[in-house]
Amino acid sequence: MKKKILFVVMDGLGDRGCDMLDGKTPLEYTRTPNLDEFVARGNSGIMDIIAPGVPPGSDTAHLALLGYDPYEVYTGRGPFEAAGIGLIGKRGDVAFRCNFSTVNDRMEVIDRRAGRIKAPETTELVKALSGIAIDGTEILVKEGTEHRAALILRGEGLDPDITDADPHDLRKVATSKGRTGRADHTAAVVNKFVELSHERMKDHPVNVERRKKGLPEANILLPRGAGSFPDMVPFPEKNDMRAACVAGVGMIKGICGICGLDIASVPEVCTGGLDTDMIKKADTALNLLNDYDFVLMNVKASDVSGHDGKAMEKCSVISRLDEMAGHIMRNMPENIVIVFTADHCTPSEVGDHTGDPVPVTIYTKNMIPDDAVKFSEFGCSRGRIGRIRGCDLLRICMDLANRSEKFGA
Ligand code: ZN
Ligand code: ZN
Repeated sequence: MKKKILFVVMDGLGDRGCDMLDGKTPLEYTRTPNLDEFVARGNSGIMDIIAPGVPPGSDTAHLALLGYDPYEVYTGRGPFEAAGIGLIGKRGDVAFRCNFSTVNDRMEVIDRRAGRIKAPETTELVKALSGIAIDGTEILVKEGTEHRAALILRGEGLDPDITDADPHDLRKVATSKGRTGRADHTAAVVNKFVELSHERMKDHPVNVERRKKGLPEANILLPRGAGSFPDMVPFPEKNDMRAACVAGVGMIKGICGICGLDIASVPEVCTGGLDTDMIKKADTALNLLNDYDFVLMNVKASDVSGHDGKAMEKCSVISRLDEMAGHIMRNMPENIVIVFTADHCTPSEVGDHTGDPVPVTIYTKNMIPDDAVKFSEFGCSRGRIGRIRGCDLLRICMDLANRSEKFGA
């Protein structure tokens, strides 16, 4: 009988020993009776998400967890950031990350972030950029958080191998150039778009108002990080599973969207921040298992306290994650393969992602026992899963869920 699969990805959960915690990691330091129960009944190990010693971004990490080779399908940040704010492109599109910026009359950048302008002003400005086509290329723009936006070019013969129009510091706006002859056309479209964005925004009512208030005007859009949308087999097709994702942050939704997972709407209390309601998020994931074969759930809070360098705060996030694990244990369906893991380590004393392996526990009914008893970086390393790579995880779970095809006769 085929089982359902639930991945609980606790973002940036892995850590290193912290001075403040007597040399222990936040996971070792915190009491986690429910996660430990899953460890006791399941199998555990440690996992190099991409490869040993490679610090993953959350985007490449989730690609690996979903069974894709990030080196093959990760085509630059543009497409993934665009997807993260809900601009999911298609094969052949070229996508960029953009900033609303401020330039003077000589086209010199005075403020790369236009005074950290944000919605609803950016929403109004984006409206002025809608419906543009340049030399047969359709232009799609969407505002992101604060001064950020995404840009998609859609048309024939596009190539992302171009230089940025964003000068990356306070200099004259750069002219995009094709790194290869084939990309010249794409660079020309980008340059025309940048010019047009300046024309359409410089005297826009939003900017007239900002000028009056003495705020930097958002009078140009500067694209960078061109990438083409990856050509990949959608997850549901590749693995023959109906799949959905539950996440609070745009980037994770974007990755899962590109991979072809349905993005569940989450209650407003699941914010993707420290104040998120983890129990409600878990309920959303458990409910989805009625209709889907595979659900990935991401909880971001642990990564946030890692980046903030707050080991103690990470410990209290872990306590809440453990309560969530208890809630899942009491409410999960019987025929399930469930995984507790992280997408990377965000050690509190480093404040950023590192390439250390993360703990992983897989539970399903009647597993052969192993020696691991505690959900932590060390505790899980005693289990019989040993040390695997991120892209192995899905395969192992599909096998446990009786969903793998036999190799050979
Ligand atoms: Zn992450
Ligand atoms: Zn992070």
